[in-house]
Amino acid sequence: MDRNVKYLIIGAGISGLTFANYADGDYLIIEKEKEVGGYCRTIKKKDYVWDYAGHFFHFSTDEFKKKFLDSVNPEDIKYKDKNTKIIYKGELVDYPFQTNIHQLEKEEFIDCLYDLFHKEEKEDYDSFLDMLYGKFGKSIVEKFLKPYNEKLYAVDLKTLDKDAMGRFFPYADIPAIIDNMKANKDSTSYNNSFLYPRNGAGSFIQILYDALDSSKILMEHEVVKIDNEHKVAQLDDGSKINYEYLINTSPLNHFLGYFEGEKFSALKNRLSYNKVLVFNLGFNKKSKFTEEHWMYIPDKAVNFYRIGFYDNILDADKLSMYIEIGYGKEDEITEQDVEMQLKLTLENLHKLGIIDDDTKLEEHSTIIMDPAYVHINTETEKMVQQFKAEEEKNGIYTIGRYGAWTYCSMEDCMIAARDLAMSLCQG
Ligand SMILES: Cc1cc2nc3c(=O)[nH]c(=O)nc-3n(C[C@H](O)[C@H](O)[C@H](O)COP(=O)(O)OP(=O)(O)OC[C@H]3O[C@@H](n4cnc5c(N)ncnc54)[C@H](O)[C@@H]3O)c2cc1C
Repeated sequence: MDRNVKYLIIGAGISGLTFANYADGDYLIIEKEKEVGGYCRTIKKKDYVWDYAGHFFHFSTDEFKKKFLDSVNPEDIKYKDKNTKIIYKGELVDYPFQTNIHQLEKEEFIDCLYDLFHKEEKEDYDSFLDMLYGKFGKSIVEKFLKPYNEKLYAVDLKTLDKDAMGRFFPYADIPAIIDNMKANKDSTSYNNSFLYPRNGAGSFIQILYDALDSSKILMEHEVVKIDNEHKVAQLDDGSKINYEYLINTSPLNHFLGYFEGEKFSALKNRLSYNKVLVFNLGFNKKSKFTEEHWMYIPDKAVNFYRIGFYDNILDADKLSMYIEIGYGKEDEITEQDVEMQLKLTLENLHKLGIIDDDTKLEEHSTIIMDPAYVHINTETEKMVQQFKAEEEKNGIYTIGRYGAWTYCSMEDCMIAARDLAMSLCQG
């Protein structure tokens, strides 16, 4: 059955749902999964509440914070001053590494300090790696920033733009580093405190969903083809939808594949990104680490780059964790890989002293985030902006972390979706 709609929205993640919340009523959301929420979904197994890896809200505006908090029982919200560590050579060092080098062994500290004072700053940098060396010097880069980010991004850091992490990168100059040593207070992070709903990030998604007319959300349907000239989208069941505006929140590397034409496939092939294999793990008892919220692991001998402790955030009495493992764009993550990585993860958690001989795994879930972190580089960034500008003339807008092909938070996604909806509705 063919339909006509003013706003056709691809995806019921936080971006698509927010857009619909601010659109003027004539919308249809197409969502390929059984549940709404995209990467902001929550999984519940027995006593454990898990997201798609850690999903914490670091609100910078009051509007969305209020929208959520007004609809949730105050007792169901946990407020935390973040406690994050790096496991470096078997010891815990506060994150970020660059402002906490005074916590290292004396010789390592001196190396870091020496290189920090003798670094060769430049006016401009060729790449993310070049920027790291220029701003922090050899030792800080080679002890933490390079190995950690290589594990995370699963790519040569020379191929990333100097601003690949935008405001999410904890920049610090020498005075800030020295201040931190004196005061032992980190002022360089964007997220020194955060809040988390007891029922997971998905409970905020539910609030956005409840405000919508569920008959305007078509679940388990996928957009597979777009005729941008005639403003028609085709679904996997063959049906066609005529739209005035198409709002895409699906990953750009997939979205480009819905169009016909060389220029779309050329850009699609240029886009680079990583995948993240996530394990959520529920154990029978607490770890000896009872205060930490998440930890960074630069050691390449350990398979994961970041781990988090839901139990320390939710004040639960059994260890409940997420584990993140980076993969390259071309890597296939097979069932055998998942099995091997889970085994390795348990071994490494044991080696790091996070679990002991009496700790038993009670429940787990596996998630593959594909894409997870987009690789921002100058050349593709230009091509993406050009594609967006051209398609906006056809009434097509591509938003969200993956639709816009950027590095942003859930709140950023909501702000962009709200602003677009309001400007289209007013226009
Ligand atoms: C490891 C990791 C940790 C993160 N942690 C945080 C955090 O702590 N705090 C934070 O603020 N942000 C965090 N983020 C970022 C956050 O996940 C994203 O900003 C946000 O979820 C993006 O939402 P979205 O709606 O734009 O996209 P998505 O959540 O990807 O939603 C897109 C939706 O489109 C659907 N879809 C795709 N293709 C089609 C199709 N063809 N037809 C129909 N439907 C389709 C998908 O099923 C999905 O539901 C993290 C990201 C990662 C990778």
